[in-house]
Amino acid sequence: MNIEQIRADFPILQETVYGKPLVYLDNAATTHKPQQVIDAVSEVYLKYNSNIHRGVHHLSNVCTQAHEEARIKVQQFINAQHSHEVIFTRGTTESINLLASSFADTFLNAGDEILVSQLEHHSNIVPWQLLEKKKGVILKYIPINQAGELILDNIDELINDRTKLVAVAHISNALGTVNPIKTIIQQAHSKNIPVMIDGAQAVQHVKVDVQELDCDFYVFSGHKLYAPTGIGVLYGKEEWLNKLEPYHGGGEMIKTVSFEGTTFNELPFKFEAGTPDFSGSVGLGAAIDYVNNIGIDVIAQYEHELLSYATQQLSSIPNIRFFGTAAEKASVISFLIGEIHPFDIGTMLDRMGIAVRTGHHCAQPLMQYYNIPGTLRASFAIYNTKEEIDKLTEATERIAQLFG
Ligand code: PLP
Repeated sequence: MNIEQIRADFPILQETVYGKPLVYLDNAATTHKPQQVIDAVSEVYLKYNSNIHRGVHHLSNVCTQAHEEARIKVQQFINAQHSHEVIFTRGTTESINLLASSFADTFLNAGDEILVSQLEHHSNIVPWQLLEKKKGVILKYIPINQAGELILDNIDELINDRTKLVAVAHISNALGTVNPIKTIIQQAHSKNIPVMIDGAQAVQHVKVDVQELDCDFYVFSGHKLYAPTGIGVLYGKEEWLNKLEPYHGGGEMIKTVSFEGTTFNELPFKFEAGTPDFSGSVGLGAAIDYVNNIGIDVIAQYEHELLSYATQQLSSIPNIRFFGTAAEKASVISFLIGEIHPFDIGTMLDRMGIAVRTGHHCAQPLMQYYNIPGTLRASFAIYNTKEEIDKLTEATERIAQLFG
C-alpha cells in the first residue's frame, strides 16, 4: 500500500488545526473523501445534472445511467445476487428505519420480539423501540461480557418462537468488536427468522459478501466509506423485499396512481420515493472504485496493523483502561485514563491538532453496562499512519501527566 499516495488523494489531510498538522482519528464517525470522489460528485453538477428515470432527454439519460451504474457497483461490492436488491437510502439510520417501518407494517403484532445486542448504536435500538410503542412489540438484547463480546450461551432462548427479526451490528462502533454474525445468522435461520446486519462500521474495513453471510438485510452509510454524506444502502434479499410494504409514498415508487387505487413499482424503486440523491450515489460508486483499487483485504491488513500498534503504544500510558478487548476487533480503540473525564482529554488533544471522539458514541446502553459516561475513541482509516498513532500516544501521555 502506497500510504503517501493515498494521503495525497485526500486534500483535507493537508489542513492544519490550531497551526498543527491535522491528525484525524475520528473515522468511525465519518471518513474524509478522496479527490476521486470529490471529482465524481462535481462532474455530476458540471456535466450531466438532471432528474433521473423519467426523462427522455440526453442529460436525464446520462444521469440515470450513472446512478444505476453506482447501484451495480454496490451490488458487486457486497456481492448481492441482484442489483435490484440494493435500495439507496440516506444512510444506515434511514435504512434501519425503513426496514423497521415496513417490516412492522407487514409482519409485526403485539407480543412479537425483535432481538438486538447490548452494544448496538442507537440507530439499531430506537427504531425498534418506536415499534414497542406503536405495535406492542418487545425488544430483547444479546448481552455482552467485559471484553465487549456478545454472549451467545443463551442464544437458543433469546431466539425463540416469538422472535420475528434479529438485528445486530457487524462491528461495534464504540468498541470495534467484530461480532460472530455468521453464527447468529445460522442460529436464526435454523428457526426461519430473518436477520439484519448493521454494517455501518464494517464495509470500509472487511470484505462483506452478503450471499456468503446469507443475511437477509445488510445496511450501511456511504460517508463512512469515503463517499459523500446523505447516501446509504439497504440491501435485502429479493424474496424479503418483495414481501415488505413500501416505506415512503410519492413519485418513483409507483407504477400507476388513481384515486381508485395505486400500484407500486418493482424493486428497487418501490422503496425509493422521490428524487434520489444521484450525486451521492455516483460519489458512492467512486468511493467503491477507490477502495477496490487498493483492495479491501489490503486495507483490512493495514488497518489491523495500525490497531495492534495503537493498542501496544497506548498500553504504555499509566492508568489506561481499554474498553473492548475482544479477540477479533477492527479499527476502533476505546479507552479512559484513570478518572480523567474523556471530554477533557479530547479537548486538549484537539488543541494539538488530534481529532478523536469523546462521549457515549451513540451507544448509551453499552456505557451503562460499563458504568462510565463515555470513552475516548480513536478510529482508523486507510490514510492513517503509525506516526499519527505516536503523536496520539505522546499527547495523551502528556495530558495525563498534567492531570497528575
Ligand atoms: N450503526 C452504527 C454501527 C454506526 O456506527 C452508525 C454511525 O456511527 C450508525 C449506525 C448510524 O449511521 P448514520 O448516522 O450514517 O445513519
